[in-house]
Amino acid sequence: MKTKIIATIGPASSEEKVLSEMVLSGLDVCRLNFSHGSHNDHKKVIEIVNELNSKHGKMVSLLADLQGPKIRLGELQEEFIALVPGDKVCFTNKQCIGTQEKIFISYPTFASDVRAGENILVDDGKMAFKVLHTNMTDEVILESVNGGRLYPRKGVNLPDTAVSLPSLTQKDLADLNFILDAGVQWIALSFVRSAIDIHILRSRIDAHPSIIKPKIIAKIEKPQAVKDIQAIVEATDAVMIARGDLGVEMPMQTVPMIQKNIIRLCQQAGKPVIVATQMMEAMIENIRPTRAEVSDVANSVLDGADALMLSGETSVGKYPVETIATMQRIISQIEDYEAIYHTQRKYIPQQGERFISNSVLYNAIEMAKSTEAGAIVVVTHSGYSAFKLASYRPKADLFVFSNNRHVLNTLSLVWGVQGFYDEAIDDAEHLMQRINRHLIDREFIKPGELVINLLSTPAWKVGSSNTLRLGLAGEQ
Ligand code: PEP
Repeated sequence: MKTKIIATIGPASSEEKVLSEMVLSGLDVCRLNFSHGSHNDHKKVIEIVNELNSKHGKMVSLLADLQGPKIRLGELQEEFIALVPGDKVCFTNKQCIGTQEKIFISYPTFASDVRAGENILVDDGKMAFKVLHTNMTDEVILESVNGGRLYPRKGVNLPDTAVSLPSLTQKDLADLNFILDAGVQWIALSFVRSAIDIHILRSRIDAHPSIIKPKIIAKIEKPQAVKDIQAIVEATDAVMIARGDLGVEMPMQTVPMIQKNIIRLCQQAGKPVIVATQMMEAMIENIRPTRAEVSDVANSVLDGADALMLSGETSVGKYPVETIATMQRIISQIEDYEAIYHTQRKYIPQQGERFISNSVLYNAIEMAKSTEAGAIVVVTHSGYSAFKLASYRPKADLFVFSNNRHVLNTLSLVWGVQGFYDEAIDDAEHLMQRINRHLIDREFIKPGELVINLLSTPAWKVGSSNTLRLGLAGEQ
C-alpha cells in the first residue's frame, strides 16, 4: 500500500496488545495528541512503539501534536447554560465559575483583540455568537446567534479575529522539551497562522541539545494559514489539513477544494501532506463506517494525500484495530486505479544546490514510467531523495535503504516509501548488488524484474542522488 495511515493513540489504543495489533494491521504512524494525556502516558506509548518496532522489524513513526494556542471556555456552575437566539452573555478573561451572565475564556487579550461584529464559535461551531461590544480590557458582550446548550470547557474558534496569542504557549514549550528529550520523528504545530510560526518552532527545535531533530508538520486550520499557504509549505517539512477546526473557522463547504489545492501544492514542493479528521467517525461506535466515509477515504487517496489520519476512531473508539483494517481495504482498492499515479507536473529544472539530484530523480521517475520498471531502489542518508521521488507518485514500488533509522522511521509517513535499514557503507557496485539481492530474497522484487537503482557516488553522500542504473534484478 502506498497511502499511509496515522492513528491517534488514546485510552482505546495505548495498551501494548492493541497497539501491537494496530501495527500488524498496517498502522504507519502513531500520533500523540498533547491536548490530552500526561507526559507519563505519552512516554509509555513511545516506549511500546519503539519496542514493537524492534520486535517486528517495523519502522512505525511517532508524531507529537502540540496543542498550540487553543482557546477554551471555563467551568460552569451548572451542567450547561441554555441560550435562545438573541440572548446576551459576557466572556471575561478573569477567572470565574461561569453563570448565565458571565463565562471565563482562556484568552488573556480577548477583549483587546476582538472587534464588534466578529463571529465567535464554540463547541465545534455548534454555538455561534456575534461580538456586540468590548471594553478592550477584560469583558466582551456577545449575542447568541442560534441558541442551544453551552457546555463547560468547550473550544472556541475565532475565524475573524487577529488572535495575538503566541504560536507556542507555556504548555507547548514544556511539551516540546519533553518531546525533544523523548525523541520522535514528527512534531505538528496547531493553529499555524503564518510561516513565521514554523520558523519559531524550528529555532526552538534547533536550540535544544538533542542531536536528532524531528521534522515539522504545519496544521492548516485557520483562514490566515490558508491565505499564507505558499509560504507555509515552503517553511514547513509537511502539512496536515486539519479539517475539524478548518471546517469551523471557514465555511465547511470550502474545505474539499482547500484539501485538493493544498495536496497539489505539497506534491509540487515535495512535502508530505496529511488529510485529517472524521474520516471514519462512525467507527467510534460502529463496526462499519458510513458509505460517505468510505467515499471520503477513497477521494482523499485519489486527491493524492501521503497519509490519512484517524483521531477519535482509534483514541477513544470501540474498534481501533478494525478501523485500520477497514481503511487499509479502501486504500488498497483505490490504489488499483491508474489515475493516482504519476500525477506530477512538468519538471522545470532549476539551477542550485540540488540541481543534479533533482534532475536525476525526476528522470528516474520518467524512466520508471516509460519502461514500466517494477521498482525504484534508492539509497539515502538524509531522506531527501525519498521525499522527492515519492512526491511524483510513481507506480513502481519505492524501496528506500538508509543507514539512519531515524530517517527511515520518518519516512513511514511518506507516500509509497518502504524502508530498509542497511548499515554498511560500500562501494556502489557491491551496495546495489547487495540491496537488490536482499529485495529478491525477501520477495519484494522478482529475479529478472526491471529495476532502477539510485544512489550517490561516493556512497552515502548526503542529499545527492547522482547515479542511476536500469537493470534486471539479479542479473546485474
Ligand atoms: C483538526 O482540527 O482537524 C485536528 C486534527 O486538530 P485537533 O485534533 O488537534 O483538534
